[in-house]
Amino acid sequence: MSIVVKHIFKRYNNGMGIFEALPLMAEVKKSAHLNNHVLENFTIESQDKFSSKCKVCKKTIVIDLKAELPVNGEVIGVACQKPERKKKVQISS
Ligand SMILES: [Zn+2]
Repeated sequence: MSIVVKHIFKRYNNGMGIFEALPLMAEVKKSAHLNNHVLENFTIESQDKFSSKCKVCKKTIVIDLKAELPVNGEVIGVACQKPERKKKVQISS
């Protein structure tokens, strides 16, 4: 292997995190959307950790490429529900 190829390979490897995470992010957004969540853009926590949360219910989702379960969060498999507001009871006299 030539030095140039090694160099490119190394550079590619260093930037792997985000490329590996992109399909996962798309997948997470899709499945969150199916449950009516509206995810914020992902925050890059580290090279292989990304997080987001739902704008409506504030539930979170974390993608950690080093974790045994790369996608983990409250958003998965749970339908979005707005935090409940107390309704005023009207009593008519
Ligand atoms: Zn939600």
